[in-house]
Amino acid sequence: MLTIDLAALADNYRDLCARARPAECAAVVKADAYGLGMAQAASALWRAGCRTFFVATIAEGIDLRTLLPDAVIYVLNGLMAGTAMTFQEHGLRPVLNSAAEVRDWAGYCARNRKALPCAVHLDTGMNRLGLSALDVDEIRDADELWEALALSLVMSHLACADDRAHAKNAQQRARFEALRALLPETLTSLANSAGILLGPDYHYDLVRPGVALYGGHPQRQGENPFRAVVHLMGRILQIRHATQGETVGYGATRTLQRPTRIAVVSAGYADGLFRALSAGDGETGLTAYLGPYAAPILGRVSMDLISVDVTEVPEAFCQRGAWVELLGPNVSAHTMAAQAGTIDYEVLTSLGTRATRRYIGG
Ligand SMILES: *Cc1c(COP(=O)(O)O)cnc(C)c1O
Repeated sequence: MLTIDLAALADNYRDLCARARPAECAAVVKADAYGLGMAQAASALWRAGCRTFFVATIAEGIDLRTLLPDAVIYVLNGLMAGTAMTFQEHGLRPVLNSAAEVRDWAGYCARNRKALPCAVHLDTGMNRLGLSALDVDEIRDADELWEALALSLVMSHLACADDRAHAKNAQQRARFEALRALLPETLTSLANSAGILLGPDYHYDLVRPGVALYGGHPQRQGENPFRAVVHLMGRILQIRHATQGETVGYGATRTLQRPTRIAVVSAGYADGLFRALSAGDGETGLTAYLGPYAAPILGRVSMDLISVDVTEVPEAFCQRGAWVELLGPNVSAHTMAAQAGTIDYEVLTSLGTRATRRYIGG
């Protein structure tokens, strides 16, 4: 069962607002709000005062528009050929990622005699989406383009903000300043969650946090300042006893070194527990918790099941039907990510659709 604490989400939003002030704090709700459920998350963020949202795709934008008729919604993946009318119909703002997209949007606006809002994304060193310096040069003096559309935001995206000591942060900031000075005056935005923690130099007019809202730890260094939003629990289906020398799970990767009490728990990789959290002989993997008691995983993660060692756990905590913490107060998304060799983002967005989602604090 996946419990999503909307009060913690709203707290994280207010915390980010306070850090970013006087800049406006938007919210990135792409990928179903990082797997937590866009409908519930976006509504909670709206109630907490958020008015500007970012999604990745038009489909996500259309869904969000039905939920929040008055929100400002930017679509990060930009303007695909032939979609301008869909943007207009749903009141979505494209993030224009190339000179060609700027021309397309300006052309659509000119044909319809309506200057529609949009963002321009500048590439400042990530080489992912956005106008290069050459693109900017090519269209900066094309007044007819800038007059046809309504530029409401100029933005860029940081590649290394999770490492506050990385030289690329200041480099990207300098490039952003230089490039945006060549475009018409409007609101500016550079920081994602980690960028907000880099301090006021990175805030500009609008910040765009995602992972921090959902309780992820945006930076590599230090304690996570944000509240956990997601709790993943599994149920004990069975308690079994095995003797020394027996093996546990697929591949028989784990041989028991002592008589062991095993709890078989109803959660597996189809629920977002990466197979990389398995623990064969000599390895450590996921540590689950029963109340305050740690229960290390034994052997491989299966699709729907894991086995954990409850030999040391008092019997009162490990009865058939009891709930086991897989992600929560004792196991952060950050810890799980480190254990699985990935990042908080992938942990959150992998939590799957099978688990019953329960929303609290809404
Ligand atoms: C996903 C995304 C964000 C949010 O990033 P976080 O690291 O989750 O805060 C901000 N801006 C852009 C362009 C993004 O793609």
